[in-house]
Amino acid sequence: MQADVVKDADVVVVGAGAAGLSAASALGNAGLSVTLLEARDRIGGRIFTLLDPKLCVPIELGAEFIHGRPPETWDLLERRQVQISEVDGDNWCVEEGRIGPCDFFSNVDKILQKMKTSARKSDQSFAEFLRDYSSKLKHTPELQRAKRWSTGYVTGFNAADPALVGVNWLVQGMRAEEQIEGDRAFRAEHGYTDLIEIFQHRLQDGGVAVRKNTVVESIQWRPGRVEITANCPNGIARLAAPRVLVTVPLGVLQARVDDKGAIRFIPELPTNKQDAIRNIEMGKVIRVTLRFRERFWEDLPKFREKNSQTMDGMSFLFSHDDWFPTWWTAAPAKLPLLVGWAPFHCAARLSGRSESFVIEQSIETLHRLLGVSTQELDTLLEHAYFHDWQSDAFSRGAYSYGKVGHGGAQRTLAAPVENTLFFAGEATDVGGHNGTVHGAIASGRRAAAEIAHAARVTLGSTSATA
Ligand SMILES: Cc1cc2nc3c(=O)[nH]c(=O)nc-3n(C[C@H](O)[C@H](O)[C@H](O)COP(=O)(O)OP(=O)(O)OC[C@H]3O[C@@H](n4cnc5c(N)ncnc54)[C@H](O)[C@@H]3O)c2cc1C
Repeated sequence: MQADVVKDADVVVVGAGAAGLSAASALGNAGLSVTLLEARDRIGGRIFTLLDPKLCVPIELGAEFIHGRPPETWDLLERRQVQISEVDGDNWCVEEGRIGPCDFFSNVDKILQKMKTSARKSDQSFAEFLRDYSSKLKHTPELQRAKRWSTGYVTGFNAADPALVGVNWLVQGMRAEEQIEGDRAFRAEHGYTDLIEIFQHRLQDGGVAVRKNTVVESIQWRPGRVEITANCPNGIARLAAPRVLVTVPLGVLQARVDDKGAIRFIPELPTNKQDAIRNIEMGKVIRVTLRFRERFWEDLPKFREKNSQTMDGMSFLFSHDDWFPTWWTAAPAKLPLLVGWAPFHCAARLSGRSESFVIEQSIETLHRLLGVSTQELDTLLEHAYFHDWQSDAFSRGAYSYGKVGHGGAQRTLAAPVENTLFFAGEATDVGGHNGTVHGAIASGRRAAAEIAHAARVTLGSTSATA
């Protein structure tokens, strides 16, 4: 293979997801020369918006909702006058074969609020908390229900294993959400692609050199100098810079060095950084978006009492199904789309399976939940969208969560090494916003500030050697 000689930059940023895009554009606009390396043939990372050609609406394969009103996302969108609309509609639940409107969140909230007040210094897992909590109470069917729904919430929303996820991490997330009205959810007019376009403009304004299809394989480093080796379509590229910002997902940092996408650090990362990488967990999710010929659920449920509520205004449908427990519509928009969400062990069972298997399981789930025959659903189904984030070598999971007893791991992961290796990405957020787009943007901004600070100190020597 031929060696591709690339001009040195002040900073090389690895990964063009929300974190890398926000950091690279901030640094470029601050006057540093920045090269952004991205393994895939597109930017955005776990933001991946397609356009449905029939309905002309965005289809999200990754992030879809803006959780609350985080300034990191809202300020960028509002400055470009992107229309943002709130998710609105009825919640429905399926329980013991019965379907009906429900107040899902008040069921869950009682237990989560209890968890918040009982959070203490010595951490415990959510499963341990639930055990302790219910051991002090009378075992009523209501308690059983609340426990089941709250477990479903933690596995569904956080994509987390209840036996592994730390209560302290969950509570930090709840407190952070309260600051941004996190109980509300929004969508941008054209989906998250609106945000990516904004970043694209900012990269151009900052003169950032973007290299797609460039898989970073190794980072050789010593204080003040990194040499990066990357695989690109026309051979091996080598880049040198005084500092690098690594924004690849936690799953990629956890991969074995010979796995596709993995990055070999030479010398290895400090032990505390390696421990932090092990002590944060990557949650799993499989989501499908199904486009039907019509909104067949409008007249459901079947056999309902006269004048009782239909599912016409449904936003979310919650269940304990083993394959796709949660579903939602495009509400308030009336579109013939249903999104199925399979987190944690459901995702583990679906990951690595064929697209047809995943779609079939989603249709069978709808049959179980709604009572519509699979034959009818198959006839109504026009198109299905799906991406397996677990099998994708450049994500290796959906998003991160904090493991019990490892409260400081995100901060350790985020910390720069010798003012030379810098780290960002949703897993490095320390403000309680892991697993979100705004958390990723915030981490990119934090890392950009660290690099700008370091660059001011070393700028003289950088220009002298350039
Ligand atoms: C199914 C799903 C649904 C979600 N829903 C929501 C939601 O509704 N709302 C929300 O706020 N968040 C949601 N999230 C989470 C959100 O998408 C992420 O937290 C956020 O996008 C992560 O951004 P990032 O920059 O940290 O990582 P990424 O977006 O993963 O960016 C990292 C980049 O690094 C690149 N890369 C990896 N390895 C290499 C390598 N060796 N060399 C070069 N480049 C490499 C990757 O290709 C990628 O582009 C969802 C995620 C998933 C998977």
